[in-house]
Amino acid sequence: MKKISLLGATGSIGTQTLDVIREHPDEFKLTAMTVGRNIEEARKMIVEFSPQMISVQRKEDAELLKNEMPSSVKVLYGEEGLVEVACHQDADILVNAVLGSVGLHPTLQAIEAGKMIAIANKETLVTAGHLVMEAARKKNTTLLPVDSEHSAIFQALQGEQEKNIEKLIITASGGSFRDRTREELVGVTVTEALKHPNWSMGAKITIDSASMMNKGLEVIEAHWLFDIPYDQIEVVQHRESIIHSMIQFHDSSVMAQLGTPDMRVPIQYALTYPDRLIRPGKRLDLVEMGKLHFEEMDLNRFRCLAFAYEAGRIGGSMTTVLNAANEAAVSMFLENKISFLDIEACIEKAMSTHQVIHRPDLETIHEIDQQTRQLVLSWL
Ligand code: NDP
Ligand code: MG
Repeated sequence: MKKISLLGATGSIGTQTLDVIREHPDEFKLTAMTVGRNIEEARKMIVEFSPQMISVQRKEDAELLKNEMPSSVKVLYGEEGLVEVACHQDADILVNAVLGSVGLHPTLQAIEAGKMIAIANKETLVTAGHLVMEAARKKNTTLLPVDSEHSAIFQALQGEQEKNIEKLIITASGGSFRDRTREELVGVTVTEALKHPNWSMGAKITIDSASMMNKGLEVIEAHWLFDIPYDQIEVVQHRESIIHSMIQFHDSSVMAQLGTPDMRVPIQYALTYPDRLIRPGKRLDLVEMGKLHFEEMDLNRFRCLAFAYEAGRIGGSMTTVLNAANEAAVSMFLENKISFLDIEACIEKAMSTHQVIHRPDLETIHEIDQQTRQLVLSWL
């Protein structure tokens, strides 16, 4: 029985993690969880999964829940609560599916506490990959990727050696606006941007997919997870999302992982690694698919992807700025305060005014993250 602590239980990855736990009651047990503001859903989850600890975003919600819960359930809140759940003494593995760079501190603390970590929260690796990977190396922790592209690469890497990798080929569905020209991106609405062709995901990552920032964040995530230089990470548009990513080795062999688009597959793999368990659901039918398509990425149309490569190559605190500017700008777009193309304008402006700090420590990263968000908000 593997005991799980889960950050972001009410989110898209969080609820699908609960699906996997529900499907395998003899294999997994939810020990501790966090939610943000969705207290209604949290109540149902507590009844179904009986975790020992729950943390919520706001103090007032924690006080409400405390009055309803038996005293055996510990109720916490805020960033401290995220850390306590991440490091819960009974948990064997942390699934980090919280949204945004708020996931960084709990990840570092969980590594310190010797937990295995299934990481969905890509902002953590983008904002401070060097700190996370260094901590993981020191503690001999493997970070188990949940993001489908990175899970694909991780799976294709089993039995292989990283030194034999020639390049990574990350596939991209192209997001909601893949068939639009740049001119046709002017004036697009939030509702249009939220219509992803292949995946049902949280709002922020769906917008990131439409702007191609999601792929940019994934390039940086891959750089850190697999220790591969940016020049050896390629992105290819693959509209069917069947090949989840590939590795090309020095002998020209290419290894890929394929499957129908379902995030529960990589979530479950991270939970069972190096073993596998039966998954219910649809199997890939290549004859039914008939054709798979691949197209070159247009970095002029998808400027956020170009910014991510640039920030990654510059390194240091530049990826913290890229991530924080994007998080702030996407929130503003979702609130209809800026246009879709303003997102990339905010990121470009934030990057161009930033003085890079090499190997920033945790405190510096936190400061730069907050300053960048405030700067972007001040442009409203
Ligand atoms: P969602 O927006 O669906 O869920 C986010 C979760 O985090 C919710 O539980 C939310 O709580 C909680 N949360 C948000 N902000 C805070 C905060 N400040 N403090 C505490 N909790 C907070 O996101 P996704 O599940 O889509 O994505 C989660 C992470 O996984 C992201 O980093 C994303 O990039 C990554 N990812 C997601 C994929 C997907 O298919 N969705 C695929 C690959 C990676 P509440 O709703 O209760 O307010
Ligand atoms: Mg992905």
